Amino acid sequence: MKQFRNAVIRAGLGALYFTGAHALLRPILSGVGAVFTLHHVRPCRQTEFQPNHHLEVTPEFLRATLSHLRARGIDIISLDEMHQRLIERNFARRFACFTFDDGYRDNRDFALPVMREFDAPFTLFVASDFAEGTGRLWWEALERVIARTTSLDVTIGGVAEGLDAATPAAKQAAFHRLHDWLRALPGGHDVRREISALCARHGVDEAAICPELCMSWDELKSFCGDPLVSIGAHTISHCNLAKQTGETAHHEMTESRARIETALQREVLHFAYPYGDRIAAGAREFTLARAAGYKTAVTTRPGMIFTESAGHLAALPRVSLNGNYQDERILPVLTSGAATALWNGFRRVDAA
Ligand SMILES: [Zn+2]
Repeated sequence: MKQFRNAVIRAGLGALYFTGAHALLRPILSGVGAVFTLHHVRPCRQTEFQPNHHLEVTPEFLRATLSHLRARGIDIISLDEMHQRLIERNFARRFACFTFDDGYRDNRDFALPVMREFDAPFTLFVASDFAEGTGRLWWEALERVIARTTSLDVTIGGVAEGLDAATPAAKQAAFHRLHDWLRALPGGHDVRREISALCARHGVDEAAICPELCMSWDELKSFCGDPLVSIGAHTISHCNLAKQTGETAHHEMTESRARIETALQREVLHFAYPYGDRIAAGAREFTLARAAGYKTAVTTRPGMIFTESAGHLAALPRVSLNGNYQDERILPVLTSGAATALWNGFRRVDAA
């Protein structure tokens, strides 16, 4: 399914660009603005096996995106400002917001300087366990396990399997198989147990990953001293909220904010659902985010912001700046809204 969707997007983006269809469709599709999702921002790595590559863009691609928006007179605004414009129904100017999920240190080292060049505000969504240094970045752990081995023995659904991981292609296939399996497990503790076992068996220091990649509270404190930076919440443990009991989901959404506010002495007004897709955030989570008092909550459902989005502030779509499509020629397609409209079957709002 994932490969199919990627193929559709790749064909769709290419086709839209080369036919120029995005320019014709723009007046009806572009909406009033867009919220971009980013994760890592860092220079290209040279290894062939990079299964999480979609989660990173280079500083150059970020710069190209910002230039593209500025050249078109699109305002780059904070989530607070977007919220204000949506509730006032002030749609005189198109806007873009930039959001960075998880709290990676490379956001400070590589993204912040670029954002400063354009005087562009942005929000960092912090999972409080990640700032604590105790978070589990299981997708990263899985990449490291597979990178260092030529085969894996796993038990999936009670059946023992040997997976080949000798070549980059085999590693990629093994990653997809295990990633899909782990995401389908019932609880976060199941994922932790399986990943810990894999790390132990293959000599990966799982506990070192979080402090290696994520900013600590101290680092975040100086980072958020920059006037361009706002901090949002992204749960405590980076769990799939839809798989939690209502009580746990509520706790993850409110306690993470309390921890951030205590540690950073900054008000937290916005929320991002971890994973953020349909299987991680739905109607119940949207209600919980509203009840928790967040001004806005963002998903990873692809889409532009339309005037109607003002009625769905806890279920806002975003546009991913995906590391697999870092081609400047794609930018007009992304900002035209044609790519996300294609994905959504031309529905403007998808908040159910
Ligand atoms: Zn995240």
